[in-house]
Amino acid sequence: MQKKLLVNGRLVAGQGEVEDVLNPATGKVIARIAEASGEQVDAAVRAAEAAFAGWAATPPKDRATVLFRLADRIEQDGPAFAQLESLNCGKPLAAALNDEIPAIADVFRFFAGAARTMHGAVAGEYLAGFTSMIRRDPVGVVASIAPWNYPLMMAAWKLAPALAAGNTVVLKPSEQTPLTTLKLAGLLAELFPAGVVNVVTGRGETVGAPLVAHPRVRMVSLTGDVSTGEKILKAASKGIKRTHLELGGKAPVIVFDDADLEAVVSGVRTFGFYNAGQDCTAACRLYAGPKVYDRLVSDLSSAASSIKVGRQEEAGVEMGPLITAAHRARVAGFVERAGALRHVEITAGGKAGQGSGFFYEPTVVAGARQADEIVRREVFGPVVSVTRFKDVEQAIGWANDSEYGLASSVWTADVGRAMQVAARLQYGCTWINTHFMLVSEMPHGGLKRSGYGKDLSSYALEDYSAVRHVMVKL
Ligand code: NAD
Repeated sequence: MQKKLLVNGRLVAGQGEVEDVLNPATGKVIARIAEASGEQVDAAVRAAEAAFAGWAATPPKDRATVLFRLADRIEQDGPAFAQLESLNCGKPLAAALNDEIPAIADVFRFFAGAARTMHGAVAGEYLAGFTSMIRRDPVGVVASIAPWNYPLMMAAWKLAPALAAGNTVVLKPSEQTPLTTLKLAGLLAELFPAGVVNVVTGRGETVGAPLVAHPRVRMVSLTGDVSTGEKILKAASKGIKRTHLELGGKAPVIVFDDADLEAVVSGVRTFGFYNAGQDCTAACRLYAGPKVYDRLVSDLSSAASSIKVGRQEEAGVEMGPLITAAHRARVAGFVERAGALRHVEITAGGKAGQGSGFFYEPTVVAGARQADEIVRREVFGPVVSVTRFKDVEQAIGWANDSEYGLASSVWTADVGRAMQVAARLQYGCTWINTHFMLVSEMPHGGLKRSGYGKDLSSYALEDYSAVRHVMVKL
C-alpha cells in the first residue's frame, strides 16, 4: 500500500502524528498513516510555487497530454483503485468499480480537452489608438481539501480543472479516507513535473488549517461541511485568497400527484440511499402531493426495506455502512428525535445494523413537518423524510425554505409545470423526473449555505483562472 506523501515530485514518509484508517464495514484498522508535519506542508506549498511558472507556461495541449495519461493509468489500475476505495469507505465494490472509476477517468479527459478550448472575449479597439484583449490565466498555488464520501472522485474534481487551467496544487484528502489519494500520488509522481501536484495527508486542524493559512497559497478549494467552509473563509480572508466552496445539501424532491409513482419509488430507492445517503445531493427531503402521499410512503417504505445492506464484496450488496461510529451515532440521533414526535412515523428501518461495522438500516421518516429538524438539517445518512403538501405554491415554498441550495428534483407528467417549478427553485441543479445524474460537461455547485463555485464543466475552468485585461498602444 502506498502510504507516503507527495512533495516536490518525491514520495516521502509523513513526519507528523500517525492516524488509524478503518474499514467501516468491520471497524478494524486497515492502515496507519503518518500525517504531514508543518515543515512538510510548507515544503509542499513552496514546491508548488516554484513549479507554477513552468506549468502555467506549458502549452494547453501538453498539459492535456499529461491529464490524458493520468486518466488512462487510473482506468488501467481501476480494479485496484476501486477495491481500495471500497475498503476504506465501506461502499459496495461494484459501485466503486462501475460507477466511480469511469466517471473519474472521464473528468480528467474532459478537462484535458477543455484546457485547449478556453475562450475569452474578442480583442478590440475600445479606445481610439489602443487594442484591448482578454486573457484567462491561472491563479497560482491552489490548496484543495477533499471530504471522505467519494475520496478519489473529489480529488479528480479538484485536480483536473485546477491543473488544466495551469495552476499548481497541494491536495489534502480527508484523514478518514486517504488511501486512494495516496495511491494516486504514486501516479502523479510519475507523470507530472516535480511540484506541480503535491499530496499531504492529515487532519483538518493539524494539516488543513496551516495549508489554508499559508501565505503562498492563492486559492482554496473545499468540499466539506458548512462549518468547515466558514472556518476556511475566515482563514482565507487574511490573505484575500480566492475560495471555491462545495458544502452540504438537503435536496428537496417534489412529487406531484400525476408523477409516475413507480419511477419515483425506484428513483428515491436508488438516489436517496446511494453511498448510504452520504451524498450532498441525496434525494432525502420528499414533498408529496395530497393524492399520492399515502401510496408513496407505503411503496417507498417497502422499497427501502428491500435494499440489500452488507459488506463491500457480498453478492448483490447495494448499500454499505456509514463512515464512522460517531457518524452513525449522529444519524441515529436524528432518527430518534424525529421518531419521538407524535406526528412522525418511522415506516422503514430506524435501527443500527448488527456486527462491528457501522451499518444503519435504510430509513423512511413519514409525516415529517416543515419545521422538524429531520426536514431542515443535513443527516448525511440513509434517511429519507416524506412531507405532504397541499398545492404547488406550498411545495415550492417549502422546498426553497432551506439554508441549503445544492440539488433538487421535480417529478410530474406535466412538462409545463416541471419547467415552471424548476425556474423557481433556488438550487444549483434541478432534475426533472430523475435525480443525482451528473455529467462532466455540466456544472455542479450550490447556492446559499451550500457554497459557491462550480465543479465539472467549463465553469470550473473559469473558477480556477483569472480574467485579465492586456492593452496595447497602437
Ligand atoms: P468536513 O468538513 O469535516 O471535512 C472536509 C475536509 O476538510 C477534510 O479533508 C477535513 O480534514 C478538512 N478540514 C476540516 N477542518 C478544517 C480546517 N479548519 N481547515 C482546513 N481543512 C479542514 O466534511 P466531511 O465530513 O469530510 O464531508 C461531509 C460534508 O461534505 C457534508 O456536509 C457534505 O454535504 C459535504 N459534501 C459536499 C459536496 C458538494 O459537492 N457540495 C460533495 C461531497 C460532500
